[in-house]
Amino acid sequence: MAPQYDAIVVGAGFGGMGAGIQLDRLGLRDYLILERENDLGGTWHVNRYPGLAVDIASVTYSYSFEPNPYWSRLFAPGVELKRYARHVADKYGLIGRMRFGRNVSGARWDEDQQHWVVTVDEPARGSAETLTARYLLTATGFLSQPYTPPFPGIESFRGRILHTTAWDDDHDLRDRRAAIIGTGATAVQLVPEVAGQAAALTVFQRTPIWVVPKVDTAIPEAVQRLFARAPVTQKAARLVNTAALELLMVTGVLHYKQARLGNRAAALLAKAHLRAQVRDAETRRKLTPHYDFGCKRPTFSNTYFRTFNAPHVRLETNAIDHLEADGIVTADGRKTEIDTLILATGFNLWDVNFPAFEIIGRDGVNLGKFWRDNRFQAYEGITVPHFPNFLSLNSPYSYSGLSYFTTIEAQMKHMGRLFGELSRRGERVFEVTEAANTRFLDYVTEKLGSSVFYAGSCATARSYYFNQHGEAALLRPNSTVTTHREAVSFPLDDYAYGRIGVR
Ligand code: NAP
Repeated sequence: MAPQYDAIVVGAGFGGMGAGIQLDRLGLRDYLILERENDLGGTWHVNRYPGLAVDIASVTYSYSFEPNPYWSRLFAPGVELKRYARHVADKYGLIGRMRFGRNVSGARWDEDQQHWVVTVDEPARGSAETLTARYLLTATGFLSQPYTPPFPGIESFRGRILHTTAWDDDHDLRDRRAAIIGTGATAVQLVPEVAGQAAALTVFQRTPIWVVPKVDTAIPEAVQRLFARAPVTQKAARLVNTAALELLMVTGVLHYKQARLGNRAAALLAKAHLRAQVRDAETRRKLTPHYDFGCKRPTFSNTYFRTFNAPHVRLETNAIDHLEADGIVTADGRKTEIDTLILATGFNLWDVNFPAFEIIGRDGVNLGKFWRDNRFQAYEGITVPHFPNFLSLNSPYSYSGLSYFTTIEAQMKHMGRLFGELSRRGERVFEVTEAANTRFLDYVTEKLGSSVFYAGSCATARSYYFNQHGEAALLRPNSTVTTHREAVSFPLDDYAYGRIGVR
């Protein structure tokens, strides 16, 4: 029986949209993009907290083939990203392929039919259906499963609880006594905004974060017009910015062992920034990280540190013991009375996100169990042995460079080479070989030895780059130039083609 669709893509964020655009280019036009939210945009749809903006400059944080000359700032605010996602979906004919409010709960490779059987729930209607597709592509994001720590007593709290991924614009913060738990990249953007509205703000920090200055400014309309009229000028700006980011990533993080000085220089810059912004020495001490720059994702802000000078803002570093109806009690027995609790506590990557739903491949192999029993792994960060016709776009070792678009476009190139070869051979089924997968895993493992994650001091970072086995299995440890070169030149016999696994 022929499957209903050429492909099913799970996730309508920038990753899923890139995959859809590439499927069209490859002539696989009969596909669906399934999305659990009620609109497209992925992270830029879900996150709507005050202060949300990109922290990779917008000339780089966008598809290279679809530049937007009209970003209002060097670092565009979140709403512009959402608007850009809508524009791309319209222009590339993706909207008609998207189905919202669809939660994919499982997928199974049908060995006889050589296609995927995908279970899709539609919670709004209380219904479920089964769809079949020749190819399955998951673009479910890295940071898409919000995490709420199990603080004792949280259920007894009588004020308002807001997770940063479920912001309520109608909740007026004026005259509120607010707490923000967490000091990751989200909190760094949110803290100054909440401080600007609330009557009192306590920030609960467990681990400080490295923050460097953000060189941000509005982009004058004349420059926007220039970018629109002469796209080569924006291309040049992208090239310069991308090269600078690449240098930071390659020297500061990936080649820590060989270029320790670059890493130290970044830490010195962040410390000077802190010294210039925070008056109180004790607060500065508390805000200073004790792990190497890059162990945990560093962030950029000109306003975060100096918020702690304000008399109504307090930094609390005692551990949270429990919550009560009207406040947070810390391990020293003190209660901070609040009426609004903001959870900037991030995401659960390793326990529930790899993969985001149950995926059963050939011979009944369960992807989540395979990864947990045998190390997290994926050839070129995209395919896994025993999972034919499956592209896992948010895989271990897939994230290359600092802008997510670098990864997306490398994966689009990988798709081009792989599906091109399938078509040349007149085949419809592929699976990466065990040998190729092992070779790639050995390669990344060896390369990571030089990175800050293993050669640096990361023990106290509590970084989500590390999984439950202590492996930094998220970032691909080579330059984006190498990633893109390998995407168009990987050995074609790293894959087996044709009916696989049928005796
Ligand atoms: P995050 O980096 O995972 O930070 C979560 C914070 O919550 C951490 O400070 C963590 O402390 C704290 N936390 C978690 N459990 C806790 C507990 N039980 N008690 C006390 N504190 C607890 O999450 P995020 O800030 O949402 O950022 C996630 C990622 O999203 C960023 O790294 C970045 O990649 C991306 N992001 C990007 C942008 C942008 O580009 N504009 C903006 C925001 C976020 P510990 O560190 O001690 O665990």
